[in-house]
Amino acid sequence: MTFLNVKKDVAYIRDISDKALDLMSQYNVVPSPANYEVWYDYACEENMSLNKAIDEMIRKRKSFTAIACKNLHEKFYSNNQEQHAVVSTGQGLQDELAKIAKTVGDVNKGTAKYGLSLNESMLNIDNIPGGAALKTIISGIMKETKEQADSNSRAQEQLKESAKTVQKLQATLETVRQEGLTDMLTNIGNRKYFEETLKTSMNTANNEGSELCMVIGDIDHFKKFNDTWGHHVGDQVLKAVAHTLKTRVGDMGSAARYGGEEFVILLPNSDIEAARDLSETIRKAISSRSMKRKSTGESIGKITCSFGLAQYRQNEHRNDFLERADAALYRSKSNGRNRVTLEDDGSSKVVNIA
Ligand code: GH3
Ligand code: MG
Ligand code: MG
Repeated sequence: MTFLNVKKDVAYIRDISDKALDLMSQYNVVPSPANYEVWYDYACEENMSLNKAIDEMIRKRKSFTAIACKNLHEKFYSNNQEQHAVVSTGQGLQDELAKIAKTVGDVNKGTAKYGLSLNESMLNIDNIPGGAALKTIISGIMKETKEQADSNSRAQEQLKESAKTVQKLQATLETVRQEGLTDMLTNIGNRKYFEETLKTSMNTANNEGSELCMVIGDIDHFKKFNDTWGHHVGDQVLKAVAHTLKTRVGDMGSAARYGGEEFVILLPNSDIEAARDLSETIRKAISSRSMKRKSTGESIGKITCSFGLAQYRQNEHRNDFLERADAALYRSKSNGRNRVTLEDDGSSKVVNIA
């Protein structure tokens, strides 16, 4: 049962974290967040080139000085940094271009005004005896003024074009960033998106003393469903469930695919009762729907989901928050599935015996 993965994950993350910290102290690595990121991944053994690079350093008895660590981090994690750098540089460039465009625009306005007053002077000079020579001089100045104004306008146009290009680049980068946070199959937030949202939501809850609830949902007997109908139909179900979650959550919070057939919802500014009501609505919406095979229209029966809910306690660790929601989900499963269970507060509250 993959809903236990959350539990396993928590234990796994703790193990890896301990291992990473041990290694860092063994090799005298400064415990900075960037270094921790490197050593956590090293302990995971998932990035073979990173492991190779560190193993090589260990083999050659090189010390992990601040510079060596910085190089390691830059080498293996520079992509994200570059993306952020380009986004912020793009914004800076955009601001500068806007300023220059304004200056050129102002000069243009000034030049136009200057041209007008020259024109006016020309008319007045007409009435002065012997003004003809002066008029020729002023005509020359006016011609130059016009040329200047024209070239200023061209410069302004070019600046506007450049600003547009920078804007397009920024939009592209933002799309790439969004894609990195979206689950490809279901088109809702992915695990990374969840982790980021969790971090910011917890910060807000801590800083503002506001409420935050988490709902973990897991499709019931999904393995059997896949075995009966095939993975392709299973994928359609995942998409349908994700869609229901996303639309029902709406602007109350955010929904993400945690992994496999597990989903997580974060509800800032909602108390546990509101979270339970929403979960119940979602549970009913999913279980009352009779699923059909897209290609043939053949009925594939009903799908149900189990849910576990927890309310954030100020300043607690994310793992504790997650573990309480996961334990509640576990109870939903062991009490018969297709139900919503609140975190254990001493009295086991099981809602809606379906
Ligand atoms: P339980 O009610 O206890 O949660 O049982 P379960 O069968 O849903 O749980 P289990 O963890 O045994 O199986 C989860 C299944 O989810 C296994 C796998 O076939 C399916 N699954 C995970 N990811 C995907 C996916 O991306 N597409 C499809 N079609 N199936 C998936
Ligand atoms: Mg599961
Ligand atoms: Mg399941």
